[in-house]
Amino acid sequence: MLKQEHVPIFRGNGVLEYVVREAPQIEADDDVLVQIEACGICGTDLNILAIPPAHKAPPGIVIGHEGVGIITAVGPAVRGLHPGDRVVIANRLTCGKCDYCRRGLDNQCTTYQTIGTTIDGAFAPTLRAPARALWKIDPSVPRDDAALFEPLSCAVGSVKRAPFQPGDSVAIIGAGPMGLLFALLYRTLGAGKIMLLDVAPYRLEFAQEMGMDAAINVAQGDAATEIKRMTGIGADIVVDAVGNQIGQAIQLARRGGQVILFGLRPHDNPPVNQYTITRYDLTVHGTFVGLHPFAQTIQLLESRRIQPSVLVTHRLPLAELERGVDLMRTQQAMKVLIEI
Ligand SMILES: [Zn+2]
Ligand SMILES: [Zn+2]
Repeated sequence: MLKQEHVPIFRGNGVLEYVVREAPQIEADDDVLVQIEACGICGTDLNILAIPPAHKAPPGIVIGHEGVGIITAVGPAVRGLHPGDRVVIANRLTCGKCDYCRRGLDNQCTTYQTIGTTIDGAFAPTLRAPARALWKIDPSVPRDDAALFEPLSCAVGSVKRAPFQPGDSVAIIGAGPMGLLFALLYRTLGAGKIMLLDVAPYRLEFAQEMGMDAAINVAQGDAATEIKRMTGIGADIVVDAVGNQIGQAIQLARRGGQVILFGLRPHDNPPVNQYTITRYDLTVHGTFVGLHPFAQTIQLLESRRIQPSVLVTHRLPLAELERGVDLMRTQQAMKVLIEI
């Protein structure tokens, strides 16, 4: 008899319906089955479940992509992965054939699939995924650190785009999970002052408790003045982890400084003071998910020098996925992990 499992299915328009399904089986030769231990709730999941949706996903799928689990079976063509291995998910399945993939720019693949967004994901006891989406991680890395592999890989991929010197000061706009991952990463890399900006007191307190150098409430004063006071000339590197803060970002950067644009707000169209960028020699990097950051992210997690599980504030069972989404949406939680 086939194994049955309870899973939440995305039905569109913010609805999750729990159904009993047969556990996925190996179908293609390169398929791998993973018994999921935990899966983080991501901003993308909040967007998929927003009403109306702020991120596309077809009704009928299982969402979730920040999963960690143990392999239970592998297809006949799979090499290098074995039952019992612990793996994490690199969720974008690029085609390998389009003009961008052929140029090595696979983060710009034009015909990709995404585990947990276009095909079934990891908010389920069993994930079926092609072997190329899975990365082995040493079992000595705690489950909750491994679960943050995917968002951390995005920060790793983004940070490498802006040449960095130890001691550089870094201002990060947005003190949510992504902004704080950038902060942890820059601290590990040897940044000078790290300053977080947000409007949410919960997030600013969190940044402060993590020992960051400043947590600035942009609703309560001029952040550019404060950054200048702290650095003398402005930040060497500014990260916009929100997605519509380029105007603020170029004001925080020192002359000759760099701006990393990371957050995604497809419908916002903020005005830009082009003069400031030209006159003060700023470099603006658009960065999207990261190009081949996975091996380094695994090595970083295995080194234990960065422990992103400090961001996990809540651990909930799969039956409470919606509550977890609400906690993150209302900013009563930093990062919620679903334990499966
Ligand atoms: Zn994610
Ligand atoms: Zn492609």
